[in-house]
Amino acid sequence: MSEEDFSTAAAGGPSTWAVHGGEERRKHAKSVTTPIAQTATYVFDSLDEFEEYKQGKRTHFEYGRYGNPTVRAAEVKLAALDGADDALLFSSGMSAITTVLLAMMRSGQHLVIMEDCYRRTVQLCDVLGKFGIACTGVSPGDFEALERAIRQETRVLFAESPTNPHLHVADLDRLVPFARQHRLRLLIDSTFATPVNQRPIEAGVDLVFHSATKYLGGHNDLMAGSVCGRGPMVQAIKEFRDVIGTNSDPNTAYLLIRGLKTLALRMERQNQTALEIARWLEGHSKVRKVFYPGLASHPDHAVAMRQMKGFGGVVSFDIEGDLERARSFVHQLRLPYLAPSLGGVESLVSHPATISYSDLSRPDRLAIGITDELVRYSVGIEDAGDLIADLEQAFDKV
Ligand SMILES: *Cc1c(COP(=O)(O)O)cnc(C)c1O
Repeated sequence: MSEEDFSTAAAGGPSTWAVHGGEERRKHAKSVTTPIAQTATYVFDSLDEFEEYKQGKRTHFEYGRYGNPTVRAAEVKLAALDGADDALLFSSGMSAITTVLLAMMRSGQHLVIMEDCYRRTVQLCDVLGKFGIACTGVSPGDFEALERAIRQETRVLFAESPTNPHLHVADLDRLVPFARQHRLRLLIDSTFATPVNQRPIEAGVDLVFHSATKYLGGHNDLMAGSVCGRGPMVQAIKEFRDVIGTNSDPNTAYLLIRGLKTLALRMERQNQTALEIARWLEGHSKVRKVFYPGLASHPDHAVAMRQMKGFGGVVSFDIEGDLERARSFVHQLRLPYLAPSLGGVESLVSHPATISYSDLSRPDRLAIGITDELVRYSVGIEDAGDLIADLEQAFDKV
């Protein structure tokens, strides 16, 4: 397929590229949308054709684990949105992260990871340890500790931005030269930002991850994950994925492409509503502290202003009171569902001390800022006034 077959709308505004970016203009059967190729394998007219395909003289799909036209269309679109050469789609965000780390690293090597990364990513270090890959956790933003953590055998630096639930923003303008100086691959989980709010590839990051389960899919109806970066690095990861089979499937890819069309619209709304809610919460007498990088009170506000176009849809806050008050507040909310996850059109609310950090002891939770009174709110696309009225009635009852 030639270059002209794809829309390169990246030069336009965010909504234009969300719709047209990476899209093949002439699709199968002149369909406007990407068809779902529900097939496990592909036909070759002859053994000669197969040989030509193997020699790279012909483009052809071979077998479902190695590729699928609908999944490929999603990958091309994801690469376009992040401004990367290429992208790969996986069965979940964790599947993307696991596949990439196992593909890139070998026994005896060392990984440095920011301690506030997604919990399952941090837990993956135990898995890597079983294969002789050592990990060191570093407190986010502590460049002295980061410097000390680097060893001769360190190969990868893994960070996330913004993070969950305190919305720390990693300073990419400092991390990129740091990684270059130490010859490390810099990997960023950009799930909370999306390509609308932040494009780490353009800042010089090597590989960018998204849990597409969150904003990219955007409708709380699919599980997928992606990685994007330079061509050869992505190709090497694809060859590893072909072996271990962590690929996505055509139905999921279809839903993801459909979700991506409205990514910019949704993000603009979610950025705006979350900022409005964060400001409203900050002025509320029953709120002790609000964590949102769009607020001047957030420690990473200056970095976020420099590096991000919007601050995303997640707002976390400590309410005044105790565990019981926080639990009852969450139960009083009527619009958001009480559910893990984030980034969809439906607002979701979570109580981290009970839901995602219940396996830690209370002192261990407090050490990382997970107080009993912390509430995490993932803003959907509902009207800001309705969400605020709902928060107000819940505060009135506690
Ligand atoms: C949810 C999430 C993941 C994991 O993605 P899954 O699709 O649930 O496997 C990774 N990183 C971040 C920041 C996430 O929020």
